[in-house]
Amino acid sequence: MMNSALKELQLNEQIEDLSLAFKEIPRSDHTLTPAELAAFDDLSTTLVVDSVLNFTTHKISRKRRYLYGDEHRMASETMKKFRESQDWTNAIYSFLNMRSIKGFIEKFTFNKQAEFRDHIVRFLNIFSIDAGYTIEECNRYSAEGHKGAKLVATRAWSRGDKIDRLIGVLCSMKNNEETTLLSAEGSDFSVMYSTRKRCSTLWLGPGAYINHDCKPTCQFQSNGTSAHIRVLRDMVAGDEITCFYGNEFFGPGNVDCECVTCEKNKRGKFQLNSDEENQEPEPETEEPGSKRMKYSLRSRV
Ligand SMILES: [Zn+2]
Repeated sequence: MMNSALKELQLNEQIEDLSLAFKEIPRSDHTLTPAELAAFDDLSTTLVVDSVLNFTTHKISRKRRYLYGDEHRMASETMKKFRESQDWTNAIYSFLNMRSIKGFIEKFTFNKQAEFRDHIVRFLNIFSIDAGYTIEECNRYSAEGHKGAKLVATRAWSRGDKIDRLIGVLCSMKNNEETTLLSAEGSDFSVMYSTRKRCSTLWLGPGAYINHDCKPTCQFQSNGTSAHIRVLRDMVAGDEITCFYGNEFFGPGNVDCECVTCEKNKRGKFQLNSDEENQEPEPETEEPGSKRMKYSLRSRV
């Protein structure tokens, strides 16, 4: 049995290794369970994204608090330094050495710790000078209380380009996992439903910040454990990176869609009242116990 001093020494060595040997664009496969992916994502967004945007972006567990006392300030300083210096090793080392993060990773195997590090790295990519996009506050969507995020191109992109430093991380969920993880919290942004595979998929990583648009600029390309982003329409700096979540994501026929295209075309939520009166009443399609009860599902396109 190792004594605690020895354990501490070993963890410190592991943190050094994790900070020195890594890839800026991590491998696209992973061995994470839905619960691990959810916790890794909540922590990574807290450390990397929230400390830049200065508000709390989407979380699977809305009640759990991950950081101690002044660690939010420490995370903000780390991100400020990273954006100036682009020193990845320093940023990873600073995050992994935070007291709460050490406590979080000490129970994991080295390989799992490396997967946690990789998840942080995926989010650091948003703030890489080579990203070609950035993250901004977005006040468009009522489902997010008009305080969410959006991804915006910072350079021109051409149709067919792959946005290398932007990835979605996927994890198939069994029915019970879905209930345990999500139902109590009502997380409505993070689940896609695959009609082909007939299962729900947890959809996280930086790609989860991509908003829906009925005429999107980009497209998800999934390989099972992750999704790349491919450009569908030429973009210039300032254009939002958007994808199509599915025909029924915002209600039947996306009747509640609040996207820019719907606003422009007076469709979805922006439909004129006279149109609404002419509409047939919506048929009640939800069965008891169906998956569309507490949160919406993205259907894969
Ligand atoms: Zn729309």
